[in-house]
Amino acid sequence: MKPAPFNYIKPSSIGDALAALGEHPEAVLLAGGQSLLPMLNMRLVAPSHVIDIGALPAMNEVSIADGWLRMGALLRHCDLAASPTVAEAAPLLQAAARHIGHPAIRNRGTIGGSLALADPAAELPACLLALGGRLVIEGLDGERVVEAAAFFTGTFETALRRDEILRAVEVPVLAPKYRSEFHELARRLGDYALVGLAAHGQIDNGGVHDLRLAFFAVGDKPALAVAAARSLEGKSLSEANIAAAVALLADDIHPIGQPGYGERTKLHHCGVLVKRALSRMAA
Ligand SMILES: Cc1cc2nc3c(=O)[nH]c(=O)nc-3n(C[C@H](O)[C@H](O)[C@H](O)COP(=O)(O)OP(=O)(O)OC[C@H]3O[C@@H](n4cnc5c(N)ncnc54)[C@H](O)[C@@H]3O)c2cc1C
Repeated sequence: MKPAPFNYIKPSSIGDALAALGEHPEAVLLAGGQSLLPMLNMRLVAPSHVIDIGALPAMNEVSIADGWLRMGALLRHCDLAASPTVAEAAPLLQAAARHIGHPAIRNRGTIGGSLALADPAAELPACLLALGGRLVIEGLDGERVVEAAAFFTGTFETALRRDEILRAVEVPVLAPKYRSEFHELARRLGDYALVGLAAHGQIDNGGVHDLRLAFFAVGDKPALAVAAARSLEGKSLSEANIAAAVALLADDIHPIGQPGYGERTKLHHCGVLVKRALSRMAA
């Protein structure tokens, strides 16, 4: 199918893009187009205007300041995966980037597009939750910063307002003794996840601290397994302690099943991923 007719705008600054968004209430933003173009072609969306921000300057940079790694929203998945700065400061993001679609998708798709879309099965939202990240949002009134935990509000829903642009993403630089693990179950390499886990925590004095277990593809948005993680605070990642934490997952996570893949199987797989992640963290 072909998209319904729309007007195309290519602003040369973020200010122009915001002005165009304000002027056209039925407009949508286009970044890498890897989700928007199929949605347009299938006529799932029929905007009056498409505002192409894909080539805006200074929105794909990677930098470190005041203990935070900052990545422009237009950073492509392939560049995220190849960045030596990200490798050192947030290896979890690189581990996740390799699971996003196929090379063709990663060559065009941007981190901002993935986060703004907020697909419940997407990898990056869960990583941001695990890392305690935040999103820098720009509107005509100026900039605001939203914690990842408050940004993802539901299936394809975020705290972004219609007339705002996600400008950058920030995560704390990997602190000493912190380790991350990323695990995903998918039917084939490159498919969306059936279920996935981004885990992050500190291993010190033989125990785990500040553990965060963020699941994706389980519900309408990424979810932290709070009780399971808290049960391990200060404890060793022994087989018995991990098994006790896995037993608490049913209190934390309430997976939504899909045809041929029921809630109980999904919950079981969440436990399998926790065991995999934590035994590797302990190694
Ligand atoms: C075959 C296939 C497989 C895929 N597999 C995966 C996968 O495994 N995991 C995954 O996460 N995704 C997957 N995707 C989806 C897609 O790759 C990502 O969602 C993609 O990275 C989106 O980024 P984009 O730059 O292409 O966004 P676009 O398609 O350009 O935009 C997506 C949405 O975000 C909005 N948007 C984009 N940038 C901004 C911004 N800076 N501020 C505000 N709003 C913005 C747009 O208006 C639009 O609504 C897949 C897609 C395809 C076609």
